[in-house]
Amino acid sequence: MSLSISATQIAANLKDVRARLHQAAKYANRRDTDVSLIAVSKTHDAEAVEAAIAAGQLVFGENRVQEAASKFPALRAAHPGLELHLIGPLQSNKVKDAVALFDVIHTLDRKSLAEALSKEINRAGGKAPRLFVQVNTGEEPQKAGIAPTEALAFISRCRDHWGLHVDGLMCIPPVDDEPAPHFALLRKLAVQAGVKELSMGMSHDFEIAVTLGATLVRVGSAIFGAREPV
Ligand SMILES: *Cc1c(COP(=O)(O)O)cnc(C)c1O
Repeated sequence: MSLSISATQIAANLKDVRARLHQAAKYANRRDTDVSLIAVSKTHDAEAVEAAIAAGQLVFGENRVQEAASKFPALRAAHPGLELHLIGPLQSNKVKDAVALFDVIHTLDRKSLAEALSKEINRAGGKAPRLFVQVNTGEEPQKAGIAPTEALAFISRCRDHWGLHVDGLMCIPPVDDEPAPHFALLRKLAVQAGVKELSMGMSHDFEIAVTLGATLVRVGSAIFGAREPV
């Protein structure tokens, strides 16, 4: 369940987030079009998503396959231009649904998932979401992601062994750390790997991420309001 928030408030929040993105891009000498805003609608219902669409937002992020599968097929049918990103962990038994549903998967974080994605993409006859590798920049034991020291080898292996093209890298810095060094590390790895997209920055740190090269920011609560704890 989401806390209730009005369509007017969602539109105002989106306008504010876009203005902040514009300022951050300008400050970093980047164009607005260099950064896509992913509106993270997890825990919020289809009505909240509709309000964001009405305010011009077409790119959304969800962290659970099942929740996205219950909300988005109907929204997509009504709004053909929608783009949907998976930003949460992907269990191997949900790979088939995820490949069918998402345009971009940000959380390729282990060999077994690379193998499962490769199989499913081949089985589905080429329908392939764009893939980002999640890097555990803080090397937190409880957090998903490839260790920074293993990222380059993993990306090569995705390509050479599993035939998967990796388009980007994603990170979630440790909550208590300054995010900037994590964003800088992710960018360095992307340059080394020859990977274009950088998915980094959330409600509290997306401006820093933009100045450090983010090409996608994942913003939830600054648009849809606070989530109830789950
Ligand atoms: C929920 C979530 C976000 C959005 O977080 P906010 O702080 O609400 O902006 C971004 N990225 C990931 C991976 C998330 O799970």
